Amino acid sequence: MDEAEHYSDGALVAVLTAEPIDRLLDYRAPEGGVARGAFVEVPLGPRKVLGCVWGPGAGGFDLKKARSVSHVLDVAPMRDEMRQFLEKTAAYTLTPMTAMLRLATRAPGLMNPPSMRKIYLRGTGRPPRETEARTRVIETLEEYGGLSFTLKELAETAGVTPSVIKGMVPSGAVREEDCPRDLPYPRLDASAPGKELTPAQTEAAVALRKAVSAEAYSTTLLKGVTGSGKTEVYLEAVAACLAKGRQALVLLPEIALTAEFLTRFEDRFGARPAEWHSGVTMTERRRVWKMVGISGAQVVIGARSALFLPFQNLGLIVVDEEHDGSYKQEDGVLYNARDMAVLRASLCSAAVVLASATPSLETWANVEAGKYQRLDLESRFGPAVMPDMHALDMRGEKLPSTQFISEALARSVRKRMELGEQSLLFLNRRGFAPVTICRACGHQIACDHCDARMVEHRFLGRLMCHQCGETKPMPTACPSCQVEGRLAPVGPGVERLAEEVAERFPEAKCAVLSSDLFASARALKDQIRQIAQGDTDIIIGTQLVAKGHNFPNLTLVGVIDADLGLQGSDLRAAEHTFQLMRQVAGRAGRAAKKGVALLQTYQPEHPVIRAIIAGDEEGFWRAEAAERKMAGVPPYGRMAGIILSGPDVAQVMDVANHLARMAGPLSRLGAQLYGPAPAPIARVRGKHRVRLLIKAEKTAPLQAAINAWVGQVKWPNSVRLQIDIDPQSFW
Ligand code: ADP
Ligand code: ZN
Repeated sequence: MDEAEHYSDGALVAVLTAEPIDRLLDYRAPEGGVARGAFVEVPLGPRKVLGCVWGPGAGGFDLKKARSVSHVLDVAPMRDEMRQFLEKTAAYTLTPMTAMLRLATRAPGLMNPPSMRKIYLRGTGRPPRETEARTRVIETLEEYGGLSFTLKELAETAGVTPSVIKGMVPSGAVREEDCPRDLPYPRLDASAPGKELTPAQTEAAVALRKAVSAEAYSTTLLKGVTGSGKTEVYLEAVAACLAKGRQALVLLPEIALTAEFLTRFEDRFGARPAEWHSGVTMTERRRVWKMVGISGAQVVIGARSALFLPFQNLGLIVVDEEHDGSYKQEDGVLYNARDMAVLRASLCSAAVVLASATPSLETWANVEAGKYQRLDLESRFGPAVMPDMHALDMRGEKLPSTQFISEALARSVRKRMELGEQSLLFLNRRGFAPVTICRACGHQIACDHCDARMVEHRFLGRLMCHQCGETKPMPTACPSCQVEGRLAPVGPGVERLAEEVAERFPEAKCAVLSSDLFASARALKDQIRQIAQGDTDIIIGTQLVAKGHNFPNLTLVGVIDADLGLQGSDLRAAEHTFQLMRQVAGRAGRAAKKGVALLQTYQPEHPVIRAIIAGDEEGFWRAEAAERKMAGVPPYGRMAGIILSGPDVAQVMDVANHLARMAGPLSRLGAQLYGPAPAPIARVRGKHRVRLLIKAEKTAPLQAAINAWVGQVKWPNSVRLQIDIDPQSFW
């Protein structure tokens, strides 16, 4: 490591702040100087803001006016490799560096001095006036040896009031000390053996251990059906990483996954890892951020933004469920954590493990191209096998319009109940009914701010817009024709399905798993734990259940509408349906009992449905890859989405048309420009949205061309521009 550049007292330094100002700001180095990469507090107008010393100042203004850095924060300075990572991510996603720094410092209170709390220890001597309570305090402290207590802990353990303890400090019988709040995480035990692995697992684990021990960049796809032991195997890679004295990061798509995962982790390594996700308290976020920078946290388990933590010595990044759409951040900095994990690893000589039962086509193609290694875990661990899959042809069903469970599926559910086993009915739609229609005039209730229908949520007793979250009470009369009592729900959501289940299986114990029905991540975790214990006959769930939860007594999965994902114009519609159906089917028969998956469909002949039923994965990937190659779309071509939005539809369209006419920089690249066109969801939160789409060859320097292109246009403040490189969604 080369010594970071140092700027002495009063020298002019350029500081990157996390404020929305698109340039570096010059300040004078504080007393004692400052190193490149140091995090600092600087004055900006009347405020003090967080910044990072980026290099020598540019000067070029009246130097007498230069203000000084207020102080240097007591945290690890930004490492060069992190700086490169931020710069490359910014260049790739066309994001200003200030926004990147914001992403990399998302821990509140970094500018606060390290905070202390008081701890209490045994001092010397006895208190001058010995009361029974005071004696208990001394006895407690002596009984617990050198252990320190907080005031509250000591008061509770000794059975005295806090004031008794405070009163003993002046005499020296009890010592009061300041202790830093941001303590390191417990050390993990890298040498503890894991479970005994099967031969296939051993082979994969050996390969991953080797990749990690090489301390060089590599990416490996770890592919295996749900339950094949991928987690078990990549924990071996974590152990190898710890043995090298390096840090590991495990990215997971959903908070709900961590409950089971953390216990497993603790069983294996003897302590819990640091956690980084939306459910973590502010104090804890700051602790993780600081500790990661000085290796006081060896392993972080986190959501996608954990990738931007300031690791001191990162040796492994695991991206579990790498195909998951939630790795793509859809607002602010539009990055894909899976792809940026590969970038980050390449900058710090780390290994990447992409784990999935149903990899993305991008990853599959990178394996085919020889860029990534691939390890396969063929069968499930232990006696469990993939469930039998069958299509239920719905074309012949004569169900009333208020019912969605076919007779064949209902029979299977009943049989499971007789056997004391669990069934899962899967429907990827929250709420009661996706559409509310007026039977008198045909009007459909829509959101006032968005181009979207309102979804009835009977549990909440309201209508909700799934675009903007706006809710309103269910009207009694049609808002269009004013006729009373003719509003009717159309189509199913999970809540409606739950109602049907209650009617048709009155003796069954049901549980609905839908993200909006839980007040907290903890409530959801509790529900999942109960289900896993076998307390439920029928689970009704959305996409939430497709992910990672282990329900050992579940032997039947019924997919209510297998065609749902096939509609729409998304280029990944087939891929996503394939993945989701296989994951959901994979919930069945995870323990010793063999499972069955039944897919209700109106298109049993559809190639995707057939590939799912046949379990012909490689066949599906090859066919899908061939189609995308022909169309020149990702992963065989490049795409960028351009979204313009603003309150005035004519103005937004004007800017878009103007942009389209200036497409020279794009055509010189051989790229094609489509649009402008109103976005599929043309209005969100009152803002009109217009999209353009760029398609280019895989090797084309697209970002530079886009920069040149949008740079030509003078931008009205009321029109917002978003550039989405490698778009995942097209709404
Ligand atoms: P995946 O990550 O592929 O879904 P897991 O690693 O979660 O698979 O394994 C599924 C279940 O099987 C877990 O409960 C796990 O503890 C268990 N398991 C996997 N491999 C072994 C093994 N070699 N010995 C004992 N239990 C195992
Ligand atoms: Zn809305």
